[in-house]
Amino acid sequence: MNDLNAAETEVREGVVFQHISFDEHEQVVFCRDRHSGLKAIIGIHSTNLGPALGGTRMWPYASEADALNDVLRLSRGMSFKASISGLDLGGGKAVILADSRTQKTSAMMEAFGRFVESLSGRYITAEDVGIGPADMVSVHKHTGHVTGLPVEMGGSGDPSPFTAWGVFRGMQAAAQVQWGTDSLSGRTVWVQGVGHVGETLVRHLTEAGARVLVSDLYADRLEAISRQYGAAIIGADEGYSAPIDVYAPCALGATLNDQSIEHLRCSIVAGAANNQLMNEERHGALLREKGVLYAPDFLINAGGLINVNREIAHYDEAESMRRTTLIYDTTLALFGRAERDGITPHQAALRMAQERILARTGSAI
Ligand code: NAD
Repeated sequence: MNDLNAAETEVREGVVFQHISFDEHEQVVFCRDRHSGLKAIIGIHSTNLGPALGGTRMWPYASEADALNDVLRLSRGMSFKASISGLDLGGGKAVILADSRTQKTSAMMEAFGRFVESLSGRYITAEDVGIGPADMVSVHKHTGHVTGLPVEMGGSGDPSPFTAWGVFRGMQAAAQVQWGTDSLSGRTVWVQGVGHVGETLVRHLTEAGARVLVSDLYADRLEAISRQYGAAIIGADEGYSAPIDVYAPCALGATLNDQSIEHLRCSIVAGAANNQLMNEERHGALLREKGVLYAPDFLINAGGLINVNREIAHYDEAESMRRTTLIYDTTLALFGRAERDGITPHQAALRMAQERILARTGSAI
């Protein structure tokens, strides 16, 4: 049974505390507003380093079990992302069970804002898949615990350009290790998912002289990006076995699994999607055995978090950019650590994140 099937079975049997992805979450909040149709789950993994800041995802999950598993995995990842990025934030995330293209309403987002407010700042929200700055305005009507507000409202706007820049920097670090140069010129890169982050990443890659292949579920979006940046369109699963140099997952998680890794022909995986490894230990090890260098997702996709974090106190775009640019250095150091300790890059990233939490709070999480 794979992890997702196991999670499905557990939810059917009513297991939450022993859920495969539970991992000592402090709080899990199930939110329902009948009037707007809102169904959401907020996961607070830890508040050890500070308030749990993490985006809200809107997705038409096939089942409630999928949604619970996703939010638990995402909020846990945020704890480590904040720590390894040197931020005094905990780990949290929210999912709204709906289709952002056909079911999202401002009433639904406002109802969600009331639930965020009920947590009194233990959880601070922002954008994720299917959610943009305009939605944060609706959320903001009922709570101040929100980031990623539009610039004209004094916020920092959409965090995704920062995320994309950090991913690009992480990819450059991986190139430096694999090929002895951080240039991506002439390399073939598959960007899977050309949403907010994917599009900006395509722009950076094109400007760097890479040959970019793109895939997405939405044909209209795909064609627009292809036209604008001259990127070649490939089929949804075609990239897994294509002769590419870099695979950049920028859609949903768990795309690095038994099936995909068997076919991969790339040298580097570096993308924005959270929780790319379906099973952290097994699939991290499989990539290493295959000689594919994996740049840990929660390290290289932290640019957006770094940016929204600055919105809490005093927003400073240049400082956000400076810190996001440094993802290159942290990623290089991490690859060195993995090599020295004989562990996978993902294990090294977890170690580095846990070490900071231990140093600051006296106990690991
Ligand atoms: P988005 O909703 O703007 O874009 C996601 C895109 O992926 C959509 O266009 C969707 O159609 C596409 N997609 C979904 N499944 C796909 C599949 N199987 N194949 C190809 N395309 C598929 O989301 P985003 O904000 O760009 O985020 C992308 C990823 O990066 C997510 O996993 C998100 O959690 C992660 N992330 C985003 C940020 C941020 O700042 N937005 C920060 C950190 C991590």
